[in-house]
Amino acid sequence: MKKYYKPKVVSPSFEIVPDDIGLAVRIEFTGRVCYKSEDRISADSSAGFCRGMVNHKHNSVLEMGVRTCEVKARTKSHMREIIMAMPKYLFIDDFPFEKRTLITGSVRAFREMLMRLPGNEIIRTIAFDMNKNHPYFFEDIASLLPVKRSRKISCRQVSLEEIDQMEPEIQARHRHLAVKFIVSRAVTHEIVRHRPCSFLQESQRYCCYSDGKFGSRITFIKPVFFKEDSEDYEIWGKECLSAEAVYMKLIKNNSPQAARTVLPNSCKTEIFVYANLAEWHHILHMRTSKAAEPSMREVMIPLQKELMKRFPEQNFGEPLRMPEGYV
Ligand SMILES: Cc1cc2nc3c(=O)[nH]c(=O)nc-3n(C[C@H](O)[C@H](O)[C@H](O)COP(=O)(O)OP(=O)(O)OC[C@H]3O[C@@H](n4cnc5c(N)ncnc54)[C@H](O)[C@@H]3O)c2cc1C
Repeated sequence: MKKYYKPKVVSPSFEIVPDDIGLAVRIEFTGRVCYKSEDRISADSSAGFCRGMVNHKHNSVLEMGVRTCEVKARTKSHMREIIMAMPKYLFIDDFPFEKRTLITGSVRAFREMLMRLPGNEIIRTIAFDMNKNHPYFFEDIASLLPVKRSRKISCRQVSLEEIDQMEPEIQARHRHLAVKFIVSRAVTHEIVRHRPCSFLQESQRYCCYSDGKFGSRITFIKPVFFKEDSEDYEIWGKECLSAEAVYMKLIKNNSPQAARTVLPNSCKTEIFVYANLAEWHHILHMRTSKAAEPSMREVMIPLQKELMKRFPEQNFGEPLRMPEGYV
């Protein structure tokens, strides 16, 4: 086994996922982070990937794309039925004077609503429309889909541009945004506590770091706590190297899930966090405050600045002072 003298270290970072990609492409793009198989993305791979996720019941991947619909129904009974089902994962706003309702939900949320309320005309119409462009999302429950589109329901997809022109409170509930973070496992352990979000994370169970595609190395996140040329940084680095060496020994006779048991919190991981702007507001408020963990603030403070620029109407708060040493 090759002996290394320095751990492989990267700085934490974030990237906002572009909005202008279709449901299936976005689901594949985010979903492949779990397996670190982004190299398998091609011009026509997304349908097969989505089908695989449905078949394997890797349902959280289907949360990574949402659709907003404007519904006008002749009677209120269908909407009442949806409200009575208390759907936790749909965002619903009713505009009684305009006789219209906005409903936003992920592919997963609409699939599961169809299974729960298979007779509901609104849900059936939304699923019918989605199925036209994305049949792979409904193949396993195709028998629940209507054969014809309901005439009692007027339903249309609302574009992001339209949502961005709505009043801030409505925009905040319906406008979703995905951010990819490259951070330590310690940071992702905290991020995933934010329950209204959807998450997809590089899996230490699937990824085998002795593979050439990972350079046969474990990557660590540069700790915000220790100066690079300090004694403490050296101590930290030695421990990382030691964990890496043990992992590489164990992986020879064991699975990644067994070998990973020796890996520390400093391991690099990649995570997609998908939420509406209201939840991002909450996350940024909590995670940029002085009480928050410094490694968390390291990525959340610049993200807050970026979101303030993109969504000035959302009042994401004044930019906070950067943590010491952050450039
Ligand atoms: C400085 C700091 C220190 C922390 N220390 C600890 C610690 O020592 N130990 C620890 O375990 N955790 C700790 N946490 C995590 C913290 O307790 C929360 O789990 C985490 O910040 C998620 O935030 P949240 O619960 O406010 O909201 P989220 O999960 O982001 O939810 C957003 C909103 O949804 C609503 N909501 C979501 N779920 C429910 C629910 N079940 N019931 C009612 N309302 C709900 C609430 O209105 C909430 O504001 C800490 C967090 C911070 C920022």
